[in-house]
Amino acid sequence: MKLFKKTKKETNKHQDALNELMKVMSRERVLTAVEDRICYSYDGTKQKALPDIVVRPENTTDVSNTLKIANKYEVPICARGAGSGLTGGAVPLMGGIVFDLKNMNRIIEICPDDFVATVEPGVVTKQLQDEVAKFDLFYPPDPSSAAFSTIGGNVAECAGGITGLKYGVTRDYILALEIVLPDGSVINTGRKAGYDLTRLFTGSEGTLGIFTKITVKLIPKPEKIQTLAAYFSNKDDAIDAADLIIDNNILPRTLEFLDQMTINAVRGYTGADIDEEVKALLLVDIDGTEESIGHEMPIIENACRESKAFRTKVADTAKERDAIWASRRSISPALYNIAPHKINEDICVPRSKIKEILRRVDQIKEGQPIYIANFGHIGDGNIHVNIMYSDDPGQEALAEIIVNKVMKEVVALGGSISGEHGIGNKKSQFMELEVPPQEYEIMKRFKSYFDPKGIMNPGKMFI
Ligand SMILES: Cc1cc2nc3c(=O)[nH]c(=O)nc-3n(C[C@H](O)[C@H](O)[C@H](O)COP(=O)(O)OP(=O)(O)OC[C@H]3O[C@@H](n4cnc5c(N)ncnc54)[C@H](O)[C@@H]3O)c2cc1C
Repeated sequence: MKLFKKTKKETNKHQDALNELMKVMSRERVLTAVEDRICYSYDGTKQKALPDIVVRPENTTDVSNTLKIANKYEVPICARGAGSGLTGGAVPLMGGIVFDLKNMNRIIEICPDDFVATVEPGVVTKQLQDEVAKFDLFYPPDPSSAAFSTIGGNVAECAGGITGLKYGVTRDYILALEIVLPDGSVINTGRKAGYDLTRLFTGSEGTLGIFTKITVKLIPKPEKIQTLAAYFSNKDDAIDAADLIIDNNILPRTLEFLDQMTINAVRGYTGADIDEEVKALLLVDIDGTEESIGHEMPIIENACRESKAFRTKVADTAKERDAIWASRRSISPALYNIAPHKINEDICVPRSKIKEILRRVDQIKEGQPIYIANFGHIGDGNIHVNIMYSDDPGQEALAEIIVNKVMKEVVALGGSISGEHGIGNKKSQFMELEVPPQEYEIMKRFKSYFDPKGIMNPGKMFI
């Protein structure tokens, strides 16, 4: 557990801030007991850092009051949704205040006539998806963490997910934001005139302000979904099949890829009925009307066969569909059967470079006593490169060296260090690989304009 060592002056400031907070917030909304604070010290990475104070706001006024106090005493603030982030965003590296936004979880309004919904940041993604589905509407961003991640966290990370190829990512569905700035003032974005502040704040990872209301765009819910699994004897054939499907002018709802290491892990973990000779797997969902699906599915099956799939399986019932997707859903826990530690890099390259980046990853791994499992959203070039390592001495350092090399290759191929998980502190060291100096400087200037005292999620995004 990392304990940020404070100077005496900083300790006094924290105490003054706490005294003032107690005057404006009800007691049960401010936690200071160690056992409470430990629950807010981690996220989906294995990092831990203990906050000094946890504040659980109920509304925008609570957020604003807390920020005014934090700003006055220069106490760091780290927003937290569900803490499922994979780059350290919700870990309070410098101590200070953690904002637990889970109590701000009301769906304020769903307007079926306008295809919009307004929610508080603590609403769980799946809850929003389910509620709008009751109106035959669809909120497409679908991170694999949808069952527990929050909309606030999704906006802050610009979360992607399995539907990105056809429907885009969180950014594409955010119409307006209510944001509390570090000085406690409240702004509303989403106006047509002027600069697009909504886009600036989407993906800002809690470093510029706190979202307290989020207005999202909805679209009509597709009538039907159909799923296909295609089994290949090598990964290049599976990648060819994915290309051929898209070349046939079909944009699947999801187009997921699993490599041999991932398949082996899943087979071992779930006992899934996947033959030993399967070395790569494509999972394809298409959605639309009965007619469009009837037209597209045979073309997809053909594309897979032309690319040497030795078997394809179309799920006809919800049960069969679920069985196919169970393999994909089990990847995360299954990988821990390979080794106890994992670095999950969500690299992204142009689709035409997927074969090449996987070849380079193989080359980097060659002869190294470490495992790498690759899977992910092949349709949008977003591959999760999972470096699995043991407790043996030197393994963690070796994993970090491999990550470093992979990142360089990704950027050399015109790709991005993060397709969807954000930067946090885990990837801040790679920012300058991808972002040229002038753009990097502009980003830092935005940060210091909005947050001149540097209290918003310090230690994240920039080194
Ligand atoms: C098993 C698993 C699968 C995953 N699959 C995907 C996937 O498919 N696609 C994907 O993109 N990600 C995925 N993730 C990563 C993670 O779920 C996403 O990044 C998600 O958006 C984080 O949401 P959260 O509510 O947990 O946010 P947290 O982890 O609590 O916070 C994330 C960041 O958002 C900031 N933040 C949170 N709320 C606010 C707010 N209201 N205002 C301002 N800043 C805020 C935090 O300070 C932090 O920087 C996965 C994670 C896991 C564990």
